[in-house]
Amino acid sequence: MLMDRHGRKISYLRVSVTDRCNLRCLYCMAEDPEFLPRRDVLTLEELARICRAFIARGVRKIRLTGGEPLVRRNIISLVADLGSLIGQNGLDELTLTTNGTQLARYASLLAQAGMRRVNVSLDTLDPDRFRLLTRGGRVETVIEGIIAARKAGLAVKVNAVALEGQPPREWDRLIGWCGGLGLDLCLIEAMPMGGGASIGPSLSLPRLRDELAQRWTLTDSGHRTSGPARYVDVAETGRRIGFITPLSHGFCGSCDRMRLTCTGMVYPCLGRDDGFNLGAALRADSTGAMLEDVIDDAVAGKALGHDFAHLRQSRPMSMTGG
Ligand code: SAM
Ligand code: SF4
Repeated sequence: MLMDRHGRKISYLRVSVTDRCNLRCLYCMAEDPEFLPRRDVLTLEELARICRAFIARGVRKIRLTGGEPLVRRNIISLVADLGSLIGQNGLDELTLTTNGTQLARYASLLAQAGMRRVNVSLDTLDPDRFRLLTRGGRVETVIEGIIAARKAGLAVKVNAVALEGQPPREWDRLIGWCGGLGLDLCLIEAMPMGGGASIGPSLSLPRLRDELAQRWTLTDSGHRTSGPARYVDVAETGRRIGFITPLSHGFCGSCDRMRLTCTGMVYPCLGRDDGFNLGAALRADSTGAMLEDVIDDAVAGKALGHDFAHLRQSRPMSMTGG
């Protein structure tokens, strides 16, 4: 079992399988980002070996993210590989965070490979605003992707980054639309990340919640996942809204996760710069012993809390995976 120095059990690995993406969300990357050189990117087999090493040490949940995970060539082979580990002594769950643009093509393959749930990022239903926020994306494609995912039997949660400047009617539209499809919606506080991303003035989620409560009947929900969201029930839709507030409310005390990038760096915290090179350890020692040692070092080095305030903003969100 992996336990850090602060008594937190590490059971969740988020894996950024690529730093590339077919969208260019303003708050995530620059318009013309510098992507990692291909030679630095681990093969899917290498990523799977690292995942297996974590699973052998007690990781029970893996989420694939990116960049956009579904633009990585042959991604389904990794999903199938990890999907085959779901069950006793393996994984409890394999999930995905995606921008949804490729879901119409991949939803049934994901379901066949053992995936049961996906998170789809969708900040607005307004086609013009979506095009602006993603620098050219089509919201219709994401909507089609979500519908395909539901048809394939995947549970979908919608994630939206809460940005200052989104008109109240847009939040209402998103809440109503998600409710109509039976989907929970998670609102994420924008975090200052590197790579030319720009989050603009920050919008406090407690304030947004108060505003929404003027138009929707919100009551605190007992619903909890292993994640950091705090949920409210929405009486009008029968669904929930989750609030993820890394900046305004600390939730580091119960953090159970590590973040692996496609180059094999593992970051114990999204909001800190210290990383450990599992890719180099994997390539230097085919027995896997060095990999085990570096995993131990990374877990031992997991800080008690994030430090977004002093983060040098050197690491883009698309590299670590949100
Ligand atoms: N491309 C996929 C997607 O958009 O869902 C997966 C990777 S993306 C980096 C993962 C999540 O991080 C998305 O929900 C995205 O909205 C969120 N994200 C990106 N930049 C962010 C930022 N600066 N602050 C908060 N969330 C951010
Ligand atoms: Fe791509 Fe996701 Fe970043 Fe948007 S948030 S640019 S979809 S990786």
